[in-house]
Amino acid sequence: MARRDAGFVRRWLTTAAEAVARDADRLTELDSAIGDADHGANMRRGMTAVSAALAKEPPGTPGAVLLLAGRTLVSTVGGASGPLYGTLLRRAGKALGDAGTVTDEELRDALRTGTEAVAQLGGAAPGDKTMLDAVRPAIEALPDYAAAGAAAARGAEDTVPLRARKGRASYLGERSVGHMDPGAASAALLFGALAEAATADG
Ligand code: ADP
Ligand code: MG
Repeated sequence: MARRDAGFVRRWLTTAAEAVARDADRLTELDSAIGDADHGANMRRGMTAVSAALAKEPPGTPGAVLLLAGRTLVSTVGGASGPLYGTLLRRAGKALGDAGTVTDEELRDALRTGTEAVAQLGGAAPGDKTMLDAVRPAIEALPDYAAAGAAAARGAEDTVPLRARKGRASYLGERSVGHMDPGAASAALLFGALAEAATADG
């Protein structure tokens, strides 16, 4: 059974930061349709800071990497997505404790715990057209990383016909229909990056 170390989680988040930087304009365009046009800038700022923090003093355990990344997102992102993604990663990190390596199942369970914390914090149910509509199917597909990446991408696509019930987009009511949720789009990038990191890790 594959065991994942701190380096794996660092490579995931660094790969995710690159993907977010590449797609920041698209994320902002999505947020300009149903939000306030800052999601790309928010995520780029946050994930660039995560990469920098992880490079400066690389934590030695998967849990510590997730904790540092989550704390960094909370402190650098002004929008709703910062505390939400920050909570996801921090709670996942906490769930992993100080284990030096973790199984794919342990990582999946920790990410699920983090996801539940996000649902509790933001009150979003499935189908509310939020990041969780991409995150949840990805978690369900784990520990198959490639399937999780694909499930997140599909989950993001599937937010297009939904009406937003949480966050800024919910103010638009019916007019939020027909657009992809920006947070679901960024979640697809994060899980796509996880799939890439897993392929590289073997
Ligand atoms: P803001 O909405 O403050 O401008 P961002 O634009 O960075 O923040 O992030 C918007 C995204 O955050 C949305 O597309 C949605 O996916 C996510 N989001 C907003 N509110 C919630 C919530 N209550 N639960 C889950 N996700 C949410
Ligand atoms: Mg926004």
